Amino acid sequence: MTFQNISVVGAGTMGNGIAQVFAQNGFKVSLYDHFPEVLPKAVATIEKNLSRLVSKEKLRTDQAQAALINIQTHTDLAAAVAQADLVVEAAIEDEGQKKALFQTLDQQAPSHAILASNTSSILIGRLEAATHRKGQLIGMHFFNPVPMMRLVEVIRTPHTQQSVFDAVFGLAQTLGKVPVEVNDAPGFVANRVLMPMINEAANTWNAGVAGIAEIDTVMQLGMAHPMGPLRLADFIGLDVCVAILEVLQTELQNDHYAPAPILLQLLAAGDLGQKSGRGFYDYSQDPKNPTPRNLR
Ligand code: NAD
Repeated sequence: MTFQNISVVGAGTMGNGIAQVFAQNGFKVSLYDHFPEVLPKAVATIEKNLSRLVSKEKLRTDQAQAALINIQTHTDLAAAVAQADLVVEAAIEDEGQKKALFQTLDQQAPSHAILASNTSSILIGRLEAATHRKGQLIGMHFFNPVPMMRLVEVIRTPHTQQSVFDAVFGLAQTLGKVPVEVNDAPGFVANRVLMPMINEAANTWNAGVAGIAEIDTVMQLGMAHPMGPLRLADFIGLDVCVAILEVLQTELQNDHYAPAPILLQLLAAGDLGQKSGRGFYDYSQDPKNPTPRNLR
């Protein structure tokens, strides 16, 4: 099983990073988003990230140019996946929408293509059941920011063919990543462990135990975490965090995973974290040193 053409479906935070990493490694990438206005922003982000690598002398100018040439954007899904050997779906974290998307991908991608999802929490088996290609579905869960983070959870369903698993596992290694084999379960490993911590930090804030900066400082200095949990929630996206917690709550039938009130409140206000400029922190002055907001 060899890969040349990779289609990335969804060009948001994760999709543009996934496209960049494949393009930097010589793959032809077709990048699609349901909302066409997202595509120029995604390409601008990739350009900025490649330029940063060049200025840090981690990439030569000709390599950055070659990576950009490898990426083609598409506003038509059928065209975007027509040549695909592998489709990596990185659209919104919503089971209904992902199932509908996989149904379409099943119809439009070549029969040999492997369909992968970058979902954070939704069972790959559910997406597989929406298609007629049992055995060719897999989870390829990258981490944010994709060009920097080395881990990829490679998630197999009970049907995933061994050859498909081996090919995707090897592909992640070709990208310079460290793949880890994981079985299909809500939240897999990463988010089953991480999200309860983020939620507990938010519940701790709701309970008035400490402020935003104080909770983050405790976890950074006390636990040697590079980033506090509330800052990390902003970085991931509060919409993504709530969606994952709701999957864990429903699938594991445990209300302990119910999203904290402050997460729901920020989500309702459209404050999604870093990507929307506001979440637990305000990013409008200095995005690298955001200010904790006064939310009480
Ligand atoms: P995002 O909101 O930044 O991007 C999602 C993109 O999908 C948007 O550009 C949106 O326009 C597009 N989209 C929505 N519906 C679509 C459709 N039907 N077809 C194609 N595109 C569609 O979200 P994100 O953070 O990039 O998350 C994408 C996926 O990756 C989710 O499943 C999420 O759980 C997962 N993920 C996120 C992170 C993270 O830290 N943000 C980490 C790992 C995995």
